[in-house]
Amino acid sequence: MEQIRDIMRTMEYGPAPEANEEVSAWLKARAAGIGHFIGGKFIASGKERFATVNPATEAELARVVQGSEAEVDAAVKAARGAFAKWSKLPGHERARYLYAIARHIQKRERFFAVLESMDNGKPIRETRDIDIPLVARHFYHHAGWAEMVESEFEGFSPVGVCGQIIPWNFPLLMLAWKIAPALAAGNTVVLKPAEQTPLTATAFAEICEEVGLPAGVVNIVHGDGRTGAAICAHEDIDKIAFTGSTEVGRIIREAIAGSGKKLSLELGGKSPFIVFEDADLDGAVEGVVDAIWFNQGEVCCAGSRILVQEGVAERFYDKLRRRMETLRVGNPLDKGIDVGAVVSAEQLQRVSALVKQGEEEGCTLWRAPGVLPERGYFFSPSFFTEVDPASTVCGVEIFGPVAVAMTFRTPEEAAELANNTRYGLAASIWSENINLALDAAAKVKAGVVWVNCTNMLDAGSGFGGYRESGFGREGAREGLYEYFVSDVEKALKPAKEAEIFIPRGAPEEERRFAGLSRIDRTAKNYVGGKQSRPDGGYSYDVLGKGGAVIGQAPLGNRKDIRNAVEAAAKAGGWGGVTAHNRAQVLYYVGENLDARREEFEALLSESTGQSAKAASAEFDVALRRIFYYAAQADKYDGAVHATKSRHVTLAMNEPWGVMGIVAPEEAPFAAFVSLVLPAIAMGNRVVAVSSTRHPLLATNLYQIFDTSDVPGGVVNIVTGEKDVLAKTLAEHDEVAAMWYFGGKKGSAMVERASCGNLKATWVSDGRARDWLDDRQARGREFLRRATQVKNIWVPYGE
Ligand code: NDP
Repeated sequence: MEQIRDIMRTMEYGPAPEANEEVSAWLKARAAGIGHFIGGKFIASGKERFATVNPATEAELARVVQGSEAEVDAAVKAARGAFAKWSKLPGHERARYLYAIARHIQKRERFFAVLESMDNGKPIRETRDIDIPLVARHFYHHAGWAEMVESEFEGFSPVGVCGQIIPWNFPLLMLAWKIAPALAAGNTVVLKPAEQTPLTATAFAEICEEVGLPAGVVNIVHGDGRTGAAICAHEDIDKIAFTGSTEVGRIIREAIAGSGKKLSLELGGKSPFIVFEDADLDGAVEGVVDAIWFNQGEVCCAGSRILVQEGVAERFYDKLRRRMETLRVGNPLDKGIDVGAVVSAEQLQRVSALVKQGEEEGCTLWRAPGVLPERGYFFSPSFFTEVDPASTVCGVEIFGPVAVAMTFRTPEEAAELANNTRYGLAASIWSENINLALDAAAKVKAGVVWVNCTNMLDAGSGFGGYRESGFGREGAREGLYEYFVSDVEKALKPAKEAEIFIPRGAPEEERRFAGLSRIDRTAKNYVGGKQSRPDGGYSYDVLGKGGAVIGQAPLGNRKDIRNAVEAAAKAGGWGGVTAHNRAQVLYYVGENLDARREEFEALLSESTGQSAKAASAEFDVALRRIFYYAAQADKYDGAVHATKSRHVTLAMNEPWGVMGIVAPEEAPFAAFVSLVLPAIAMGNRVVAVSSTRHPLLATNLYQIFDTSDVPGGVVNIVTGEKDVLAKTLAEHDEVAAMWYFGGKKGSAMVERASCGNLKATWVSDGRARDWLDDRQARGREFLRRATQVKNIWVPYGE
């Protein structure tokens, strides 16, 4: 007689298909074409159409209208028209709409899950249990923020009309990540779904109609990259939020440089998955399944680089291979399927080509043994061993169910390998030793770190990258700032742009010298804690009151900037000292500056021509700012976010690393101090370009820094032609963030030049700021801009 044991041994999964009649009926009713949603109406006119196919069957699901510039324009007009009223609604009213959207999505959860699986190819298990519940969660969470915006974001207003462009890997979830915070903050939106996965966005638009969302608040325009580019180019859009490839992120950064549009980028990744030898190896194997075989590996934060400590590597690979044998690849609508279809024929081709290249480069490929369906875009879960860190598959985001695995010996080597990438989106760290795991979490350069877990997502936590994985966050309080603009910034008026003049080669007889300055005021650059002669060997006359020469300043060049960046890069220890230590050093700076008040006030007067009283007032402001940022050094701290149960999610404010700062011409002393101090208070190292006309105020600070225990390389100062120096700084790959306070042209140049490593920029766009007014030139906004948030997830419990 057959024993239960035998049945258990031979038991196979039977088919467990999810019903899709409701979705089929929905598609049939829209057979005439899927249209845009503009100003509260569905518009299916337009000749150019494209098909969206089910990647698991290759069958056409629907034909979708391609959005033209005219439709983008109509959508922007509708959004602009709706903005005035929507942004003025009490937060509570907006919250009610967002709650209603969340409720309606929940009521139709199964419909959305099936539609998403059919359009994207991802397993129903995931859309049902992960995507759609997270979508509802996102709208609930942000309904809560809408309720509280007036009190929690005092001094901030919505940005305006937001253009949002999303990819195909989490179609409805990415829509929720974009639309929920935008609406909560009071913005209106024009969103473009990816051409491969337009369907759930259309079903979402129907929900907007159902709940009576005012027309024009949400507009959806379908189309390919051309439609996305038209959104970016539209003059009446105030902000672009983009998720997708780093390549397109770079195109967008360049396209909107100088337009004044706000920008957030959530880009690609090649995230490390670090397994220490004391890890729970079985747990870590399940982690790999969730890290790289979840959603067919089409996940920007996928743990696609497995780093295993040498002693356990073979055992770990063995377990992984055995686990791979049990993975079921097939019909996404089957409830027993682990891995579905890749989104499109092109993506399958791209993944296959990269895997082939990996094999050709000598890496060893391990593929799950199961048979793939005959039709559809399927790819077996795979991983490579014997990889060289320089091989293609190690560096390129494959965006398919393919990981690379390599070994390390020490925790230092693990951190080095983890950071050996241009990306910095996420990391997963496995160890039973919490000290070791948290130490690695601190060292890894990534916006999200999961300890003993992976791919944890929640609306209550910020998500977003370091380095070329983009900037800005989505989710939590930090994500909401992307959809606000401070009232101070909004009120700034365009400055009169004066030509910055460097007097060079003036005939000797025309130069008038003030006092003894000819002899004792030939400043140098300040690099790595030392005064250094300008590389080009030239200095320029600094003119003071009435055009008299009051001294000379170095005419810095590209090499000087590069040397300064190198010195700043070497001073990494500054970010690691305690905030209290940094505060002490800054207090000391203030104390030493105060002791030389007379000299600075006199120089301020002489240089800018302002009265003694005005000079004294500017000095006082600068001095108070130093004490303010010394005080903030250990107070601008992070948060513990409320996310999933039995997890602490630590939102840590981390310094960028090396920052470039270009100071304005106005209030040259107060402004210089107001910019450099918050940056170093937060642990950054700075390469600062002083005011071109009044550089001696900055160069006179050298001795103050020297005598106040500011470590060499933490502050570096280069003087000269501001925009020439700014360009080199903005282009430099080692500079992670850049602040530029100058003209409109210079601001555009900095944004454009920042494309290389996609550094975060803050530019003044030619608007004037009153540097003596605390409301405009001091405060948490400066500290927020001097940091990036890293979210570290730590589970607890037995
Ligand atoms: P893209 O970055 O090209 O697409 C993302 C979105 O941007 C889509 O809606 C796309 O439109 C749109 N778009 C394309 N070009 C422009 C443009 N010039 N201006 C404005 N918007 C534009 O990703 P792909 O879909 O082409 O995928 C290519 C690779 O990118 C993948 O293999 C993967 O490696 C990576 N990727 C990374 C993602 C991430 O989250 N990190 C997400 C998706 C892809 P449309 O697609 O409709 O033409």
